[in-house]
Amino acid sequence: MTEQKSKKIATEERANPVPYYAVGVTPSVMATIKTPDDPVGLQYLPQEAERDFKPEETPDPIGDDIHSPVPGIVHRHTDRVLFKPVHACAVYCRFCFRRDMVGPGGKALNFQEIEIALDYIRAHKEIREVILTGGDPLILSPRRLQNLLLALDKIEHLDVLRIHTRVPVADPPRMTLALLAALKTSKPLYVVLHVNHTQEISKKVERALDDLHESGCVLLSQSVLLKGVNNTVSALEDLFRRLVALRVKPYYLHHADLAQGTSHFRTSIEEGQDIMEALRARLSGLCLPDYVLDIPGGFGKVPVGPGYLETDENGYIITDHNGATHHYPPRKAQS
Ligand SMILES: *Cc1c(COP(=O)(O)O)cnc(C)c1O
Ligand code: SF4
Repeated sequence: MTEQKSKKIATEERANPVPYYAVGVTPSVMATIKTPDDPVGLQYLPQEAERDFKPEETPDPIGDDIHSPVPGIVHRHTDRVLFKPVHACAVYCRFCFRRDMVGPGGKALNFQEIEIALDYIRAHKEIREVILTGGDPLILSPRRLQNLLLALDKIEHLDVLRIHTRVPVADPPRMTLALLAALKTSKPLYVVLHVNHTQEISKKVERALDDLHESGCVLLSQSVLLKGVNNTVSALEDLFRRLVALRVKPYYLHHADLAQGTSHFRTSIEEGQDIMEALRARLSGLCLPDYVLDIPGGFGKVPVGPGYLETDENGYIITDHNGATHHYPPRKAQS
């Protein structure tokens, strides 16, 4: 078979079966789903629309591959790296930006690859922060997680450790005492929870967040702006207020990435900006995350929230939260 022909078949195979991507829902998540098209059901239950791949969508929408010096490490910014020890998750989100890399068959790094990744971090003294992500690092056994965190804890030039995870929200029974004990590091450990709607926050989830807090972790959240799930001012207002009340600081609201078969979830950037503008008028700064876009091609994340500052020949024009504009003097007039 010619290479071109095999590529074509591969594309057809991908476009046809539904679901092409891994499906995974935990009993805890199932218990929060009332109907398949509610804000939790939509996040996990496959839909026909996943067949529809748009030309602008790609298997690596945020360009991780081009910045990977050794397996499992993504080094895009000088002072921090992503470290992906596993490619599996506790659940599989239908809009996942790494959906072409994650799945139950996705291999974890083996012992040797973990050592190579750690050696890379040890050798690069400019790295100040390691972000464990994946897949989901909290599906590792407590023993493996503890070994990994201990190894990182010993690297002198690291200031901060960070874990990005959906486990406390999607699979709270995994937050056992053994796992919580593994999270007790001497360096500060920031845990960034992936959560998109208050309907995901059950009593069990609240307890898991309390436990993490008790273990000394600093809790932040990241959400993805998703059509039909949370693309309203009231859904996000409720979510961010609730998170802050649970001692979780909303960190990022991601514009949905160009992952394959996810166009039914994507809003326009203008819609995201309008929602953020309305939220800023209603919520404290503590409740407000940054609205960010991961630039396709591996150029990193940038804030794409609404702008409040313009310039004219007399200096600056600033818009307040009621939409009124105000003048602010130019630099030279101030000196
Ligand atoms: C998102 C990301 C980070 C972390 O970025 P922060 O803005 O510090 O949260 C680091 N490296 C890569 C490659 C990333 O994609
Ligand atoms: S938990 Fe994260 S990495 Fe895993 S499927 Fe969901 S969004 Fe993707």
